Amino acid sequence: MSVGGEQLSRAIGTELEGLREAGTYKHANVLRSPQGPVVEMEGRGEVLVLSSNNYLGLAARPEVVEAGIEGLRRYGAGTASVRFICGTFEPHLELERELADFSGTEASLTYVSCWNANEAAIPSLTDETTVILSDALNHASIIDAIRLSRPARKVIYRHSSMDELREGLESCDAGQRKLVITDGVFSMEGDLAKLPDIIELARAHEAVVLVDDSHGTGVMGDTGRGVAEHFGLLGEVDVITGTLGKALGGAAGGYVAASEEVCDALFQRSRPHLFSNALPATVACSALEAVRVLRREPQLVERLHTITARFREQLREIGYAPLDGEGAIIPIIVGETAFAIEMSQRLLDEGVFVTGFGFPVVPEGTARIRVQMSAALEDEHLDRALEAFERVGKQLGVV
Ligand code: PLP
Repeated sequence: MSVGGEQLSRAIGTELEGLREAGTYKHANVLRSPQGPVVEMEGRGEVLVLSSNNYLGLAARPEVVEAGIEGLRRYGAGTASVRFICGTFEPHLELERELADFSGTEASLTYVSCWNANEAAIPSLTDETTVILSDALNHASIIDAIRLSRPARKVIYRHSSMDELREGLESCDAGQRKLVITDGVFSMEGDLAKLPDIIELARAHEAVVLVDDSHGTGVMGDTGRGVAEHFGLLGEVDVITGTLGKALGGAAGGYVAASEEVCDALFQRSRPHLFSNALPATVACSALEAVRVLRREPQLVERLHTITARFREQLREIGYAPLDGEGAIIPIIVGETAFAIEMSQRLLDEGVFVTGFGFPVVPEGTARIRVQMSAALEDEHLDRALEAFERVGKQLGVV
C-alpha cells in the first residue's frame, strides 16, 4: 500500500473506532434463508423479521422465484450492455408496460434501482429555469439527485408544510419550470405526503409533481397502487418513481412512470440509463410476476393494512408511543442512537429482528426503532413479537 493509502486507512480506522466507542457501529446480520416472516440468522437461529421492506411477502413467493429462474434460463445472467446499445430484453418492455398501467401513467422506464431512477429523473427534468421544491424529509436519493441537478433555485420546505410549499411556489416567476418533489410514504416517519394539497397547489401554479412512492407501492390504496390510489388521485401525478426492491419482489430495480414524452426523454438522455447496464432479466421477470401476483391477490394489501393497524394499536396498549401513520412503517422514537441500537439488540436476543436507526439517517435525538409490517406475518408471529416488545420495553424502562 502507498504511504497515502496507509494514512487514509489509519484516519478512517480512527473514525470507525469512534463509532464503536459511541455504540453506533452497524453490524451486518447474515441470513441463511430467503427473506420472509421468519429467517435463519447466522449465530441466532430462527428470528422473526419486522424490519424488511418485503411488505407483501413476495420476495420468496414460489411464482416470483420461478419467474426469475425462467428469466435467467431464457436470457442468461444479464444484458452485458446498457439499454440503448444492445441491452433491452423483451421482459424489460413487458415490465415497463405493466408498471405504467399499474401506476396509472402512459409509460415507464426501468433502472437498476430507485436510487438510479431518482438520479435519472430529477436532473433530466431540471432545466436552467427550474425551481425545485422538495420536502425536507425526502429520501437521501432525492437529496443527492437534486445536488446533481442544476436548478435556478431550490426551495426545501419544512416537512409537509403546505404553507411553505405555497410560499415557495408563489416566489417563482411565471416562465419558470417548477418541480415539486415528495416521498409518497416518508421512510423514517411512516407518514404520507399531503398529496391532495400538493396536487391542488401544483395545479394552481402550473407545477410538475414528482412522487417517490417506494414505500407506497404495493402498500397504499385498496389494490396497492400507491399513495395516488389511496387519495383517489390515480393518473393525477405527473412523475412517479418507485422501487422493485421492496413490495414488488424485493430483488432490486427501480422505475420512473410518467408520460410517453418524459420516459422517452429519459431513455434518450438520463445518465444512469446511458452509462449503466440494464436491469438483469431475472429481476425483470421476478418483478413482472410480483406485479401480477399483486393484481390477482389484492387481499395481500388488505391483510397488510389490517395487521399494521392492529400492531400499532397493540404497541400502544403495552405502553409504547408509535408515531401515527397509514403506511406499513411504524416508527417508535426512543431518543439517542446508541439506545436505539441497544434496544434492537435486545429485541434480537428475544428473536425479533427490528432495526434501530439513528444519526445520520435521522436527526440527532430522534433515533428510533422502525417496525415494518409484512402481509406474510401470521397472527402467531405478531403475538410473539409483541411479547418480546413488552419484555424489552420493561427491561429498558421504555414502557
Ligand atoms: N426512495 C425511497 C423513498 C426509499 O425509501 C428508497 C430505499 O430505501 C429508495 C428510494 C431507494 O430504492 P432502491 O433500493 O431501489 O435504490
